[in-house]
Amino acid sequence: MDRPSAFITEETEGAAIIYRPLPDLRRLYVEATNRCDAGCVMCMRRTWNEAQGDLDYDLFQGLMREVPRFPALEWLFFGGFGEPLLHPRLPDMIAEARRAGLRIKISTNGQYLPVLASEVVKRGVEEIIVSCDSPRENTYASLRGGSLGRLEEGIEALNEAKKRYGSPFPRLVLEFVAMKRNLEELKELPVLAARWGAASLLVTNLLPYSEGLKEEILYSYADAPRILRSGGFTPERPADIAGTIWKAAAEKWFTWGTVKLPRNVWGAFRRCSFVESYSAVVTWEGDVTPCYALSHSYPCFVFGRRKEVRKYSLGNLRHAGLYDIWASEEYVRFRGKVRLFRFPSCVDCELAYTCDYPAANQDCWGNAPSCADCLWAQDIIKCP
Ligand code: SF4
Ligand code: SF4
Ligand code: SF4
Repeated sequence: MDRPSAFITEETEGAAIIYRPLPDLRRLYVEATNRCDAGCVMCMRRTWNEAQGDLDYDLFQGLMREVPRFPALEWLFFGGFGEPLLHPRLPDMIAEARRAGLRIKISTNGQYLPVLASEVVKRGVEEIIVSCDSPRENTYASLRGGSLGRLEEGIEALNEAKKRYGSPFPRLVLEFVAMKRNLEELKELPVLAARWGAASLLVTNLLPYSEGLKEEILYSYADAPRILRSGGFTPERPADIAGTIWKAAAEKWFTWGTVKLPRNVWGAFRRCSFVESYSAVVTWEGDVTPCYALSHSYPCFVFGRRKEVRKYSLGNLRHAGLYDIWASEEYVRFRGKVRLFRFPSCVDCELAYTCDYPAANQDCWGNAPSCADCLWAQDIIKCP
């Protein structure tokens, strides 16, 4: 990999852009593994042919040795597409990251928490985001392939460990992926939040990875008649996620916590929460990618249109350090383009259902990959 240049310039129509490759990374998402003990219907992993494996511990140690090169790096987030608690050395990884001065969040399905709750508390994890797409045992099992009872056992173990160690951490966040089949149950979630002592609820939308799920989405596009004319997906009136949750949260969940809701209509404003928060994702194979959306190869359906997304790796930690990858010309240019959001909007385009570009995650402005119909950039899909 080439050494980072002091400046990177780009000429556009009537203007020149100068980028400076700065070590301004603030948040690192680390996918400890792509293995999982659950089988969620809405998981990208169901469409994969990817091999399964864990992040190499030596690679992780090398990553931690680079932390001092990023003065603004504050958070390490164990998440991604796999269950982090299954990595056999996760407690050691948390300890290494804490020694490097990082604050830790973990995103988990919680099924392994009964075993690891003490470690999570003892090692100083600050926040734990637990997926809970239904407060009812039957729906939970049908959506996630795990057990709500087992999750409850894990949360109880976590709360007991917090008492034992006299720690308010980790804060508990419940994450709910809203779709047609579980929306009604969302209003029951605050009861669980109250019982479990959750500090926050995060509601996000579904990105269908399979044909069978594309009718389950709750978000819509404002100009529905135009989509109808083009013979595409028929969006219904956007479901009122906010109306479903607010009243129940106020009545049933007396806490200091917050409820974060997704946007539910595609609009003109686009902003990438990964790039704007100076984040990078490291996959279990050591690839450095700009976001979750581009961290794997998978098919998905955006407003009913099938897309094939290809992983966009800016470099692999086996061959280069994170600093050099972050400051590489390609990555700096990509982040600059995303910050200015120099992409067309395929969802607003009358050609969306006939044009070949979006299906290959490219666009007519010459971008590959393209962010032209990214649901994360609309805040329709939210990440913790
Ligand atoms: S818990 Fe997460 S990684 Fe595991 S199957 Fe469910 S969505 Fe996928
Ligand atoms: S790539 Fe361009 S022409 Fe094709 S759908 Fe997107 S905006 Fe329209
Ligand atoms: S806009 Fe979407 S695809 Fe583009 S970098 Fe951000 S999250 Fe990734």
